[in-house]
Amino acid sequence: MAAPAQAEPRWRRGVFPVVSFFGYTSHFGLRAGPGGGEAPHYGLDIAAPLGSPIRNWWGGVVSEVLAGGACGNGLVIRSGPYEHLYCHMAGEVSAGVYRSGEVLVSTGQRLQAGELIGHVGITGRTTGPHLHWGIRYQGHWLDPAAILRAMALARQGG
Ligand SMILES: [Zn+2]
Repeated sequence: MAAPAQAEPRWRRGVFPVVSFFGYTSHFGLRAGPGGGEAPHYGLDIAAPLGSPIRNWWGGVVSEVLAGGACGNGLVIRSGPYEHLYCHMAGEVSAGVYRSGEVLVSTGQRLQAGELIGHVGITGRTTGPHLHWGIRYQGHWLDPAAILRAMALARQGG
């Protein structure tokens, strides 16, 4: 996969990660930091009901299962040159395995696009239930909103 610049048919394969969408609470880029001033935000915050499903954006392999820290319970999934990050998830992590309800995800597991990978929670540094969704391309954070636009355009046949 190349970097997302234009609408290309391949972007139709991407899946919006939140099933019950409430809205965007924080965008990619600079925002007011906790100590005043501005701090970069390397992802898109998508508000959704506590416990609602999170789906895998793109087929890939789980490279990390995260617990604690600002991200809380989270997953990193690698799809070629892309890595996608999911934070603040419900459930629990132990011994590198993420569990939430019927979902069980472990490092090295292969996941299809659209597969249920967890549930929206409030773990890590967050004041309300939302998914922090980040996308890295060859190690550089991208604006997930640009990816979503490419996905929408591709679905329109653009
Ligand atoms: Zn965030």
